[in-house]
Amino acid sequence: MQQQASRSLLRAAHASLKATWFSSSVAPAAAAAYSTSSSNQGQIKWVFLGPPGVGKGTYASRVAAALDVPHIAAGDLVRAEIKSGSTLGQQMQQIVSKGQLLPDEVIIEVLQQRLQQGRAAGEGGFILDGFPRTAHQAQQLAAVTQVQLALNLSLRHEVLVQKCCGRRICGHCGKNYNIADIYLPADPASGQPEIVMPPLSPPKECEPHLETREDDTEEVVLRRLQVYNAAAAPVEDFYRASGLLLDFEITGGIPQTLPRLMASLQPYIDAARSSSSSSSSEKEQAAATA
Ligand SMILES: [Zn+2]
Repeated sequence: MQQQASRSLLRAAHASLKATWFSSSVAPAAAAAYSTSSSNQGQIKWVFLGPPGVGKGTYASRVAAALDVPHIAAGDLVRAEIKSGSTLGQQMQQIVSKGQLLPDEVIIEVLQQRLQQGRAAGEGGFILDGFPRTAHQAQQLAAVTQVQLALNLSLRHEVLVQKCCGRRICGHCGKNYNIADIYLPADPASGQPEIVMPPLSPPKECEPHLETREDDTEEVVLRRLQVYNAAAAPVEDFYRASGLLLDFEITGGIPQTLPRLMASLQPYIDAARSSSSSSSSEKEQAAATA
């Protein structure tokens, strides 16, 4: 049943996307042709990796804004395709509503379409988060675009659990908050740094409407982290083997972490932008230091 559903979904994916983008069978050749073109130089083409609760989406969005490249969240792409009500979207909805995972091929097709649109619109690269989640997805992504850096965000396990359990969403306006107030002293014996992460508190008007998502219980969070770690290790290995992996441990809140992260990324920004025009370099510099 599930296989049959996947096959029919794939056919729909190909039929709906063929018109705007190449099909999977010719993707590697087309990608190779693209990657040797001069327009591929001087671009930020990064993926952000990290466990649920690490703040990957937030950092991807902040860094993307500072570098003036689009932040592409795989989950948002999938939700948008479903919301569009396209044939593909409707079939994706059927799979998702049964609690099944979308086949990798379908996600990569939607992603290809997005990258193609971005290139047509003259976007200067991307920061991708939420994909790849498996080594197979990483291989598929490599066939369609040349990732230049995989930033691997991490956070001590016990902090991740506290942060996930502290998540709250305002049932009124939909904004996300975090009530976890985390302080862990440094442990010189193990070399662990001090961790200070104040809560992301809601404003007065949201306080009465705060809700906890059903799947943010400690039990579910621990299982989610286990699932993540099992799939993530081969993804990290994949990028480490290509010399593209950059590990970065988060030890504080966003205001402390973001400047430290931008400093760690600076050599990669310089490398990516070294062959781009001076005007875009200046623009990026101004954005990064603003
Ligand atoms: Zn609110």
